[in-house]
Amino acid sequence: MRAEIIAVGSELLTPDRIDTNSLFLTAQLNRLGIQVVRKTIVGDEPNSLQREFRAALELADVIIASGGLGPTEDDITREALAAVLQRPLVQDDEILKDIEAKFQRFGRVMPQINVKQALVPVGAAVLPNPRGTAPGLWVEDGQRIVVLMPGPPSELEPMFIEQVVPRLEARAIGERLVERALRVSGMGESAVDQAIAPIYKGYRDVQTTLLHFTGEIHVYLRQWSTDRTAAEKTLDGIVERMRLALGESLFTTKGEEMEQVVARELTWHGATIAVAESCTGGMLGERLTRQPGSSAYFLGGVISYGNELKSDWLGVSRALIEKDGAVSAEVAQAMAEGVRRRSGATLGLAVTGIAGPTGGTEEKPVGTVHIALADAEGVQQKMFRFPGDRGRIRGQATVAALDMVRRYYLHKSALKAQ
Ligand code: AMP
Ligand code: MG
Repeated sequence: MRAEIIAVGSELLTPDRIDTNSLFLTAQLNRLGIQVVRKTIVGDEPNSLQREFRAALELADVIIASGGLGPTEDDITREALAAVLQRPLVQDDEILKDIEAKFQRFGRVMPQINVKQALVPVGAAVLPNPRGTAPGLWVEDGQRIVVLMPGPPSELEPMFIEQVVPRLEARAIGERLVERALRVSGMGESAVDQAIAPIYKGYRDVQTTLLHFTGEIHVYLRQWSTDRTAAEKTLDGIVERMRLALGESLFTTKGEEMEQVVARELTWHGATIAVAESCTGGMLGERLTRQPGSSAYFLGGVISYGNELKSDWLGVSRALIEKDGAVSAEVAQAMAEGVRRRSGATLGLAVTGIAGPTGGTEEKPVGTVHIALADAEGVQQKMFRFPGDRGRIRGQATVAALDMVRRYYLHKSALKAQ
């Protein structure tokens, strides 16, 4: 089955709002084996929407429209579909009673304009909406299915899962999507592509996509197949070959976040970590506390942005800062050792760098970042030269610091295994 998603709402054509519903809907449809062949965004304009519904009915077996089911003048989805399918709209008394009851519960009287939300094209099934006023609608036209959903994601998502997925499941047969998500850190996009292109080029039925994120490259492998087991086997084979080609830069084959991988390592080793951040200004601590339960391994940190704090709070010697500069291998190491010592953590992780746009020199250009990791035995340090603007440099430094912890445990395990 092929689907089109239509996002309705003039706000989605401005710089203020983005259509996120279609991402959710695509993932859900794919899981059912339904491929999304087109997505469109249409403003709150009846003619445009009618035109889009007509085009979608030509193209797709399933059409999911979101938004425009509200009570106001600019909510036109229901009316546009009724016009295209030439079905009269009739008032559904049960919906009306339900909406009135919702207003009463909040001690309000239902405004007259809400009556519109109780209109249903003849023959449509109503999808109740316990989280809002606008019910969804399931309309069949011959072999085609049109589903109208409310716009707010908090209403659309549960409604889709609870009421639309079971209905579609009963219809969708045949192909299913099987996928794998690899993530790589410490390699550029072209280097990743160069390493894995000889592998994926050999599989015509597998769709390979490389996506660039700050400090990471994500590789998606997707295959549509009626034989799930065979597809899983094919993808696992590709993943194993890519694992060899990418080496230790590959940090997950299950689409995990970097901080998840780091959390697992720290937990596994019963270790704790503390951070000393200069140019990342707290971003590292933020990433390390994203995971629930992070208090088990994350002790805390110091945002030692100024030199005084590097000395007073971390014990970095003033003379060292004077001699090598705040952005240097030596200071990064002293910061990592200092925060480890003062916090009592197993590991001390430190970042110092020049995020720009000013402050760069010929010797230390903008993007120069030193990251150091201290344990009981000593301290390791690495210098990076990150491209991009301030935001990207700070983001890349954060990922690279987390990645240093991940690689540290990788080597530790490798040493143990010897
Ligand atoms: P509506 O159902 O058109 O009244 O939409 C109500 C609200 O839902 C809008 O103001 C948006 O905040 C949100 N919304 C509508 N469509 C989308 C979409 N495609 N993706 C994300 N949010 C949306
Ligand atoms: Mg709207």
